[in-house]
Amino acid sequence: MQLRFECSLTGEEYVSQQAWRNASLTRCPLHPNGGCGFARHGSYERRSPPGTFIARWYCPRGHRTFSLLPDCLAARLPGTLAEVEAVVGAVEQAESVEAACSELRLEIELPGVLRWVRRRVQAIHASLNTLKGLLPELFGECVPRLGAFAERLGVIAVLPALRHIAAPYLRSLPVPLGFRPRCPRGGKPDRAFQHSLGPDPPTSLA
Ligand SMILES: [Zn+2]
Repeated sequence: MQLRFECSLTGEEYVSQQAWRNASLTRCPLHPNGGCGFARHGSYERRSPPGTFIARWYCPRGHRTFSLLPDCLAARLPGTLAEVEAVVGAVEQAESVEAACSELRLEIELPGVLRWVRRRVQAIHASLNTLKGLLPELFGECVPRLGAFAERLGVIAVLPALRHIAAPYLRSLPVPLGFRPRCPRGGKPDRAFQHSLGPDPPTSLA
């Protein structure tokens, strides 16, 4: 299970400072009273940014691992939230996804690139839409786009800021901003996560 590691570092700083060494999880999320054998379980490496490790813990009684994902990194996607934000922001400002891909110098002839981009855009816009409903006093007036949220918050990097602001709701928000796993094709969400799921956000803004 992915948990939030509150951390204001960029992806580059997280790697150069080996900040996963500072991540700490003092109690088992399943058994806060202890006695389950909960212990640090090393760390695992992520492909991107190169040199990234994620601190991990294990509960033997619950047969569950817990990893602490820093606010700068995308959940269940390689890379940083800043990289996701650059792609989604480019699409918001472009006339079409295809135009954004050429701006981003992504080779749209390659199979899967448009899908790759659309998946990020849909997931982020679904998250923004859900946050409008969860935090109406803050985002109720915003269109569910990064530009509008950036203006409302007065920040440049919206997604890492939203990890912080939306911390109580991350299990209800889809990856890569939130920690809600994508449903297996046509199926129900992973059983392990059902207990903590909130209401389903719209799957598409189309
Ligand atoms: Zn435990």
